[in-house]
Amino acid sequence: MLDGFGRTIHYLRISVTDRCNLRCRYCMPEEGVEWLPHGQILRYEEILRLGRIFARLGIRRIRLTGGEPLVRQGLPELVAGLRAIDGIREVALTTNGTLLKDQLPALLRAGITGVNISLDTLNEDTFRKITRREGVARTLDALDACLAAGLPVKVNCVPVAPEEELVELAGLAKDRPIPVRFIELMPIGLGRELHGRSEDELRSLLQSAYGPLSPYSGHLGSGPSQYWSLPGFQGQIGFISALSHQFCHSCNRVRLTATGFLKTCLQYDTGVALRPLLDGPDEPLEQAILRAIAEKPACHQFAQGSVAGGEQHIMSQIGG
Ligand code: SAM
Ligand code: SF4
Repeated sequence: MLDGFGRTIHYLRISVTDRCNLRCRYCMPEEGVEWLPHGQILRYEEILRLGRIFARLGIRRIRLTGGEPLVRQGLPELVAGLRAIDGIREVALTTNGTLLKDQLPALLRAGITGVNISLDTLNEDTFRKITRREGVARTLDALDACLAAGLPVKVNCVPVAPEEELVELAGLAKDRPIPVRFIELMPIGLGRELHGRSEDELRSLLQSAYGPLSPYSGHLGSGPSQYWSLPGFQGQIGFISALSHQFCHSCNRVRLTATGFLKTCLQYDTGVALRPLLDGPDEPLEQAILRAIAEKPACHQFAQGSVAGGEQHIMSQIGG
């Protein structure tokens, strides 16, 4: 599928729930979130039908997200169903990792192709401050279980922890052959209220601790991350810097929310509600998807603060 600016769209992020077992400060408030009623959330068979339609239109990679995708019952079933669709080459998961270890065998049997684990610190006190819950040990256990199973795994960190803890977290890529990626805090929902570190700040922090960063020439997925090597590291350091190093010109993705809204840009509420069309045949759904993608915005304008039509949801309702 080509959008109105000639970009090829082949990557779909599907949010399977708005619920979560953590309460990261940049993503969700501690209390007062109104959960979507079950009746408004796409059923697995609806997601699979949409998956087949998206695959016919050119989607090749799917990532399941949330909220926390692993709080939804039976996720491996959905993974297996999506993997069976002609044309879909990858079905990966983005998770906070705290519930992953127990579900890993079923996910592997279902054919999961990769996992991104979100982890912002290795310090349990800071983890509790950021997420308002416990979880470092469980998350690290899950990470090592993925590695032992030979599953490709990446760590994603929103850099809001103290500097020395960010340095320590990057060290995961020293001892393990995994990329550790720093994601610039985005001014969406509660993200507007916190201060994250920029790529430039992180680069000088990591270079002081570990030595010079040199560009990594290998291939690690087709997303917006730029990868770097550090001396003596088995894995890589990545930066996903939507604000300071905008990458919209090469955007290849759209998002399907848990309620079936096809969202064509993270910053805006542009897109189309597909759920009302699920009662009918495939053709109008295909047309609606193609129209929405043709109108995908050129780029975000986070730097300008609030914009007309800007996203009013919190990140857990969008899927990151
Ligand atoms: N619960 C899962 C997790 O944490 O990986 C999946 C959903 S979460 C919304 C997806 C990603 O969005 C996580 O890596 C999270 O750190 C990131 N995220 C949430 N709010 C953000 C914000 N304001 N800016 C940047 N990233 C954010
Ligand atoms: Fe939950 Fe992920 Fe949001 Fe944290 S970032 S509150 S783990 S959905």
